[in-house]
Formats: sequence, structure tokens, C-alpha cells
Amino acid sequence: MNNIKHYVKEIMNGNAFFSEQLIHRFSVYIFSILQFILAFLFLFSRSYILMFLYILFPLAYTSIAFPLIEKKKLLETYITTHIEILILVFVTNVMIGYECGFNIYLFGSITASFYYTFMNQDKQSSKEICENNGRGKKAKTSKKVFLPLVLTSISIISFLVNYGISKFLPAFYPVTNPVWNTIFYTFNMIVVSAIILTFSYLFVWELENRQRVLATQNERLDELAHKDPLTHLLNRRSMDQMIVQRMEQLKTSGKRFTMILGDIDDFKKVNDTYGHDAGDMVLVAVADTIMHTVRSDDAVCRWGGEEILILVHDPLETASIAAERIRQNVEKIEVPFEDKKISITMTFGIAESIPGYRIEHLVQQADDKLYYGKKHGKNQLVANLPEENAG
Ligand code: GH3
Ligand code: MG
Ligand code: MG
Repeated sequence: MNNIKHYVKEIMNGNAFFSEQLIHRFSVYIFSILQFILAFLFLFSRSYILMFLYILFPLAYTSIAFPLIEKKKLLETYITTHIEILILVFVTNVMIGYECGFNIYLFGSITASFYYTFMNQDKQSSKEICENNGRGKKAKTSKKVFLPLVLTSISIISFLVNYGISKFLPAFYPVTNPVWNTIFYTFNMIVVSAIILTFSYLFVWELENRQRVLATQNERLDELAHKDPLTHLLNRRSMDQMIVQRMEQLKTSGKRFTMILGDIDDFKKVNDTYGHDAGDMVLVAVADTIMHTVRSDDAVCRWGGEEILILVHDPLETASIAAERIRQNVEKIEVPFEDKKISITMTFGIAESIPGYRIEHLVQQADDKLYYGKKHGKNQLVANLPEENAG
């Protein structure tokens, strides 16, 4: 019971789909029950032949449909249902006449055709799209539209044929009491309206759910393409693109930026002493600390193993203040590991963009300054090399 409640709640939140097999099984039950109800109505209206047909037909139908559902041939299940509707409507019209309103089931089947063919072909076609894209081919989308249109056309043609037949051929066993005409017509009208409303709603609901799933998948793909999986910082590829963008901005609008390249000090020792997993935990802690220290419009990337590159919009002096704040915050990190706390420090090289600079030149400058800091005691930031100071 709790499981059902949980499932219903998940569905209401749009987090779970009805299982496709479940929907088909449910539809076959409903459709068969509807035929049995009509069999009862035929009994009372003394249309005994139709009563027998409406008992035999659902028995034959379910014996074909359920095995198809078990084999997951869901599209075939729906086509079987569609064919059964065509046959039943035709036979009933010929037997008791057009006025009883059985022809309108053909319109109800139109919304169902779109819903079921969309639902059952969706997975198949997305698989095809992936395969075709892999081979550099353009995916065909017409098949998905083609099948419901064919089924709809068949329904409309059948409607017209049934109507035509009723004009030229009197019913074999017309309902003698006109009250029964009204009862059948009203019953059929209510059922068909319910069918149209249900399938229209299900169609939109299914579309919305699929869009939500796609949006989540896109977000995940975007994350995979642009972020480092361990630290969730930007990856090097994204940073390369960002540097190119900033260089363009520098050229066009003179907007300068500064690059801060940081490297964890003696990180090898951390790995050697505590193990690689502890090293990973330290990397994550450093990334989080830096992300919390910089401004939201600064870009932080994992440049290499334990090297982190930060792009800020400020000139060198302001960027140096930001880098010093980062250095101090990193120094405060204590990563709990077993009964110890791991502390680390970082060294930074800072280089400001200058119009006409090449990207490699800017990175090289930051790297040279970082190297200088490493050679001269680590845990510091280097904004100017001694020669620059002298110059
Ligand atoms: P220095 O102060 O000169 O930077 O010394 P260092 O020990 O940090 O030296 P270096 O930068 O050469 O070493 C970096 C080490 O970082 C080597 C590598 O095993 C480790 N490393 C790189 N990527 C990862 C990672 O994803 N996880 C862990 N745990 N270690 C990594
Ligand atoms: Mg290092
Ligand atoms: Mg390094």
C-alpha cells in the first residue's frame, strides 16, 4: 500500500512514468470491460447477435493483446486494438444502424493513435537518432508522424464508408425501441468524450515529462562537457575558451583581466603520507574554498593535476589582494582524515593581460611567477618578478 502511495506521489511530482506495459495492460482491460458493458446493453435491447459478438470479440482480442504486451510488442498491441475498433464499429453499424452512435468511436481512436504511437516509437526513434548521428546521417523524424496519420486516415475513411453504407443499406437488426437508440447514443458519446479527454491529457503529460527528463540530461551532459568531475570546477577546455573570449573583449573594449595560477605545495607528500583518496579530498576542499572566496563572475578551473587557474576582471593590484585572500583561506583548510587533520598551502603566480599579448605568453608569465614562488619558499603569491620590479 505504501509502495502504491509512494509511486502515485512520484508520478504526481513528474518523477516517474507509468510503466508502458502497465498502461497497455490497463487499456486492454478497460477496452474489454467496455465491450462487456455493451454486451449487457445489447442483451437488454434484445440485440442478441451483437451481445454474443461483444462477448466473443473481447475474448479473442485479449488472447492476442496480452501475449503481445508480455513480449513488449506494444505498438503491435495498439494496432491490434485499432483494428478491433474498426471491425466492431463496422459490424455494429451494419447490424443496428448508424443512429446508435458507434461511428464516433472512430474519432476517439484518433487521439489514442497519436498517444500510443508517440509513446511506443519514442525510444526506438531516439535510438535511431543516436545511431544515425554516430554515422553522420541526418535522423528521420517523419516515421513518428507517419503512423498516427495513417491510422487517423483509416479511421476517417472508415467513418465515411460506414456513413455511406448506412445511407444505402438498412440495418439488419435495427433497434425496435427508439429509447435504446438514445441510450446507446448517449452512452457512446460519454465514453468517446472521456477517451478524447484522457488521451489528450496523457499526451501532453507525457510530452512534459519527457521534456523535463531531457532538460535534466542536458544539464548533466553540459556538466560533463565543461566541468572537472572531481572538483566540479571548470575543466581546461572550458577555460581555454574563456581565455580566448576575454582576450577578444580586451581587444574590442579594452577590458583587462588578470590570471592567477595556483599550485598546491608539496602535494606529492600528501598523497604519499595519507594516500591518493585523501589527496582527492584535499583537492575538493581547496576547490570549494577557492569557489567561496572568489566573486561569482570570476572563473575558476582545474588547470592540471593540482594546479588551479582563476580569471578575474580586476587589474593586477586588486587581483593580488584577491589572491592573498585565497592563499590565507587555503592555509586555514583542515581536511579531517582518520584521526588527523590535513593542512596544505598554495603558491600563486599572477599575470595581467596586456593588449597584443598572446594567450600562451600570458600563461607562461603566470607559470614563471609561480615557479619563482616555489623556488623562494612556497606559500606565497608572486605578482612581479625581481627584473620587473627593477624595470
Ligand atoms: P610543489 O610544491 O613543487 O608543487 O610540489 P608537489 O609535490 O606538489 O609537486 P608536483 O606539483 O610535481 O606534484 C603534483 C602531484 O599531484 C603529483 C600527482 O600525483 C598529484 N596529483 C595530480 N592529480 C591528482 C589527483 O587528481 N588526485 C591526487 N590525489 N593527486 C593528484
Ligand atoms: Mg604542487
Ligand atoms: Mg603541480
